Amino acid sequence: MVMYLNRNAVMVQTLDSGEPYRRQLGKSVKTRASLTVEKIWVFIIYIAGMRMSGFGLLWIGRALVLLQLFNGVLGWGKEGHYAICKMAEGYLTEDALAAVKELLPDYAEGDLANVCSWPDEIRNNFHWRWTSPLHYVDTPDFKCNYEYCRDCHDSGGHKDRCVTGAINNYTMQLKSFYQDSVSEAKYNLTEALLFLSHFIGDVHQPLHVGFTGDEGGNTITVRWFRRKTNLHHVWDNMIIESALKTFYGSDIAVMIKAIQRNFTVCFSFFLLYGDRDTTITHIRETLPTKKKHQPDGWSNDKSSWESCKYNQTVCPDPYASESISLACKFAYRNATPGTTLGDDYFLSRLPIVEKRLAQGGIRLAATLNRIFTPQIKIADA
Ligand SMILES: [Zn+2]
Repeated sequence: MVMYLNRNAVMVQTLDSGEPYRRQLGKSVKTRASLTVEKIWVFIIYIAGMRMSGFGLLWIGRALVLLQLFNGVLGWGKEGHYAICKMAEGYLTEDALAAVKELLPDYAEGDLANVCSWPDEIRNNFHWRWTSPLHYVDTPDFKCNYEYCRDCHDSGGHKDRCVTGAINNYTMQLKSFYQDSVSEAKYNLTEALLFLSHFIGDVHQPLHVGFTGDEGGNTITVRWFRRKTNLHHVWDNMIIESALKTFYGSDIAVMIKAIQRNFTVCFSFFLLYGDRDTTITHIRETLPTKKKHQPDGWSNDKSSWESCKYNQTVCPDPYASESISLACKFAYRNATPGTTLGDDYFLSRLPIVEKRLAQGGIRLAATLNRIFTPQIKIADA
């Protein structure tokens, strides 16, 4: 029995018993206001890419904070989702890439990565508020394991309303058209693609599978170096932002390439050298030659990451189990309320974040390949 989520009613219906949630296949998935915010972002990222004076950087910092406030605290930050979708595109089969491009709205300009944060941009909009619980799944306090039946519900107890339920739901919507060879789409497949791509990213953020009592770290106030923030936001944004500035010249494309080559071994360097400056200098100096030492990066892990048991098209449950386990071992550890998180935390957690981004990308590609090109294995990048 395949489940799907009804947009208007809070309840979940089944395909057998209910009228399917149906909308026109439309391209109007983004408001003009959010497009304007997008343009401002592009402008800021462009400026940030140029060498700026101290004053310029301060201004950018303030502008970023303001924009963050407008966007709210939502899932991997924009950079995280961008990185996951960009990596996924590199592993799509020809058929899957063609299907994705066909479904993308025009303003995505043929690039899935440009619209992977769309579900975060609309979730506070009145009409889309029902999608808010679909970005995460919480476990009972201090339980470091995940169980679908116990955990996948919203705060009102409505079953299947969580990130893993949503991944199953949107996969089913896409499959119903691409594999059951029905002539007319029952669902808005553009929205289904964007939701699926976003939620596969979210389920890989360890604190998107956190404890109920602290809302996945949202209520744990900490300092990230000097800035006051919360633990959830550290994992959504701050670790990635600090890594971009410290190691990758504020260039997300450089960071993505580095992740794909599995460069980052910060923690072992940090242990070796003991202080931040030597560690950072060493990492910078070895970046260009690192590939020689690790020619395969994570490529040995790729096939285990992309496979699903029992020939399933999508398998979000093990991803959620990994996330809560990482949340307990790394995210919550040494991050009690009021803690200042600095170099120790940053350099030891960054490899976890980078690995989760890589896994998110590979698994999103594998899922889309299975949906759009059944029976075909993941393409080589
Ligand atoms: Zn999200």
